[in-house]
Amino acid sequence: MTITLDDLRAQVRGAVIAPDDDGYDEARSVHNGMFDRRPKAIVRAEQVADVMAAVRFAREHSLDLAIRGGGHSAPGFGTVDDGLVIDLSPMRTVRVDPKAQTARAGGGTTWGDFNQATHAFGLATPGGIVSTTGIAGLTLGGGIGYLTRGYGLSCDNLISADVVLADGSFVIASADEDADLFWALRGGGGNFGICTALEYRLHDVDQVYAGPIFYELEHAGDLLRFFREFIKDAPRELGCFPAFQIAPPLEFIPENRHGDTFCAAVVHWAGDVSEGENAIKPFRDLAPIVAEHVGVIPYPALNAAFDPLFPKGIRSYWKGNHVGELTDAAIDAHLEFGPKVPEVSATMHLYPINGAVHDLGPSDTAFAYRDATFSEVIVAAWDDPAKDASRTQWVRDYYDATAPHSESAGYINFMAEDDQGRIKDNYAGNYDRLVQVKRTYDPDNVFHLNQNIKP
Ligand SMILES: Cc1cc2nc3c(=O)[nH]c(=O)nc-3n(C[C@H](O)[C@H](O)[C@H](O)COP(=O)(O)OP(=O)(O)OC[C@H]3O[C@@H](n4cnc5c(N)ncnc54)[C@H](O)[C@@H]3O)c2cc1C
Repeated sequence: MTITLDDLRAQVRGAVIAPDDDGYDEARSVHNGMFDRRPKAIVRAEQVADVMAAVRFAREHSLDLAIRGGGHSAPGFGTVDDGLVIDLSPMRTVRVDPKAQTARAGGGTTWGDFNQATHAFGLATPGGIVSTTGIAGLTLGGGIGYLTRGYGLSCDNLISADVVLADGSFVIASADEDADLFWALRGGGGNFGICTALEYRLHDVDQVYAGPIFYELEHAGDLLRFFREFIKDAPRELGCFPAFQIAPPLEFIPENRHGDTFCAAVVHWAGDVSEGENAIKPFRDLAPIVAEHVGVIPYPALNAAFDPLFPKGIRSYWKGNHVGELTDAAIDAHLEFGPKVPEVSATMHLYPINGAVHDLGPSDTAFAYRDATFSEVIVAAWDDPAKDASRTQWVRDYYDATAPHSESAGYINFMAEDDQGRIKDNYAGNYDRLVQVKRTYDPDNVFHLNQNIKP
């Protein structure tokens, strides 16, 4: 069937970009260069009405629908062959209410946009560790980042969301209205509707004391064993995670060590900055330091510090697991595969899942694994397509080695396209309720390009 886009163009204010239009290649591209898909059209939504019209148009013409916020999905869920993409990137206005300490941001906002707007008031909310990631995809999956120990997951700070539903209608979901939908949005991913705006609680976070510390690989076991104990009762202002990392060519690293592989701790103190040095001292004492770049910086600068390692178009593959207990056997697996990290943009991070995340119970939001202790993510990112097989294999081998020492579940935003079979595990005791909510709000599975909860 030939589909004419004229009807759609007549209904939306934003651009509708088809294969013959200028800018099509740019408009169809997503962050992960592995996904070179060719949609029938990309709707650059400028307002809620555009999103409603595009959903109805896709349904009328039986087009697969991909929803794109920041476009960072590792499995490339923000694009689709022969379908319709609703790209929310024009909708990124952030309105801050400094008195109420809240912010309301458009569905295409990135954390960089958000931080810039809230930092002007000395405020922030938990986002991820890279500023180009979309607030929507990250929050709907849960949201783990620097401020998580202090203020919870990103989704824990969501107050309400403006949502276009699968039939093209619109609701504002919150604890008081469409409460089941609101519950499902907080961890259930993009399964239930298109968030055209998200409203967050903000916290007093302005300057932070933070940065990376590099140690020789021979101290990786000491670092991991120290970290698993220390982080249990560390003050909530402290966010930190261990990593394996090839040294980028940065000034603070001795030039003759650029390109060498290290273990690292990324430390972050969001309390009174004058207490930062003391707070992170145990990390300075645990082993000789090869290089470090820890000091007082504005929170948005910390959130953007790793951006250069993950430019748009880089190819990547991810896998992750929740970890209950970081056993000695798990550490042995890390010591075998972490040092084989193949690129400067490849890494393993072990994020703590404790502190404020444990203030809510596993069924309070859709994010089910609140009693996990860590969330592990193994990421390879590379430029050359000839390396696709070897880089993917490193992630899989590393994952296979640590999986027996981890939960069967993981964080949906750290998963690959081949992880769809893990959905039930990931949502554990919340899965059945999520299916019920899906049946109510999207019985035909219009929103299926995600870690999909089938109705
Ligand atoms: C470099 C990099 C760093 C990352 N760091 C972190 C981190 O520190 N912490 C963390 O928790 N995660 C992190 N992630 C993972 C990230 O949370 C997910 O990739 C997330 O899905 C990205 O959201 P997005 O809006 O940018 O992506 P998109 O590709 O636009 O969307 C991802 C999913 O969310 C859905 N979606 C997007 N926008 C909307 C919307 N407005 N309404 C409804 N559904 C929507 C999409 O349909 C898709 O299924 C990182 C990813 C990358 C690539």
